[in-house]
Amino acid sequence: MAKEMHKTPMLDQLESGPWPSFVTGLKRLAQDEGKPYQNMMIDLLGQLEHSYETKKGYWKGGTVGVIGYGGGVIPRFSEVGQKFPDSKEFHTLRIQPPAGMHYTTDIIRKMCDIWERYGSGLVAFHGQSGDIMFQGVTTDNVQPAFDEFNELGFDLGGAGPAVRTGMSCVGAARCEQSCTNEQKVHRTLVNRFLDDMHRPALPYKFKFKVSGCPNDCMNSIERADMAVIGTWRDDMKVNQTEVKAFVASKSRKYVIDNVVTRCPTNALSLNDDDTLAVDNRNCVRCMHCINVMTKALSVGDDKGVTILMGGKRTLKIGDLMGTVVVPFMKLDTEEDFEALTELAERTIEFFAENALEHERTGEMIERIGLVNFLEGIELEIDPNMIVEPRQSSYVRMDTWDEEVDKWNERKAAS
Ligand code: SF4
Repeated sequence: MAKEMHKTPMLDQLESGPWPSFVTGLKRLAQDEGKPYQNMMIDLLGQLEHSYETKKGYWKGGTVGVIGYGGGVIPRFSEVGQKFPDSKEFHTLRIQPPAGMHYTTDIIRKMCDIWERYGSGLVAFHGQSGDIMFQGVTTDNVQPAFDEFNELGFDLGGAGPAVRTGMSCVGAARCEQSCTNEQKVHRTLVNRFLDDMHRPALPYKFKFKVSGCPNDCMNSIERADMAVIGTWRDDMKVNQTEVKAFVASKSRKYVIDNVVTRCPTNALSLNDDDTLAVDNRNCVRCMHCINVMTKALSVGDDKGVTILMGGKRTLKIGDLMGTVVVPFMKLDTEEDFEALTELAERTIEFFAENALEHERTGEMIERIGLVNFLEGIELEIDPNMIVEPRQSSYVRMDTWDEEVDKWNERKAAS
């Protein structure tokens, strides 16, 4: 039997704007006659209205988990549970999505059925942690809900001071710019660090994110402790017939104003015969021209990845962009993947031993210095390493001659 809806004048306001409102979705669940979560959603709306009235949040953490795991459940207990008893426990289950976030409709239906049986019916595909967020479940229902997801073949993701589930873009499945096997990179890293994901024992969270090309659709530069981004090191491919067709349809002015002059390194010029000249040595792989002229321009053939460390969103010392620590790495063979995994192992080991509690990789690097970090993860200094995109190398020039010699030796050996 459904309880009476709370009055929600402030939430109602949020529905009046031009965009679809989350409030409408919550109300729809609260009006699902006969569903086990109906009263929970009615009280959730009541608590939310109360929060807007008092300008306070009323959720606090706690300890809730499933047998054999140390994380993966985000506990939420209400401080105003007496007033809104049906939503006094509103925990979230983080479930790892399939690689590339591809589902069959059958699986999604089964997931929704499980969540309607045990939870609130509220699902977010996907949270910034990379997981499917099944939001709103009581403590008693956490274990049976997880058991059924597990039976379907799904596992809990990371939460707390642990390796997180991470994210990879949809990649080659739907994007022609993909320069690496994003799903394989992601899956390889997740499988290797599953133990560190399920049993939080690190100083703080550690996130992998994998983007297939420098468009970086996963925002890995800004958000990942270890970002793996597909790129290429030979020349970009130019189809001059398509360039001419593009110029004919858009005009020379359009191409000069929107492509040529927007290249950050002036690496492009439009010839008199409407063909495009690309100075590949100066191209910094920003992807702008390729994104605009998708038929005419495409990524090169010699593909690999760039690895950055230390990106994060705001917490203690502000936002940090990842620093390039591996300018280019091939990822074709099993040995290449092993090298990537070993680098991740050294990094997480160093992070576990040297970071302070509640300190992200980027903050640790700021505190101990990049040189010490690179030494700790056994990476040789390379003049192609940069702190920020399109910036100069952070390699100091006072030992430049030695570095040039090392560089030449490595080049000769490769
Ligand atoms: Fe210039 Fe960016 Fe195109 Fe490279 S990818 S040529 S840097 S616009």
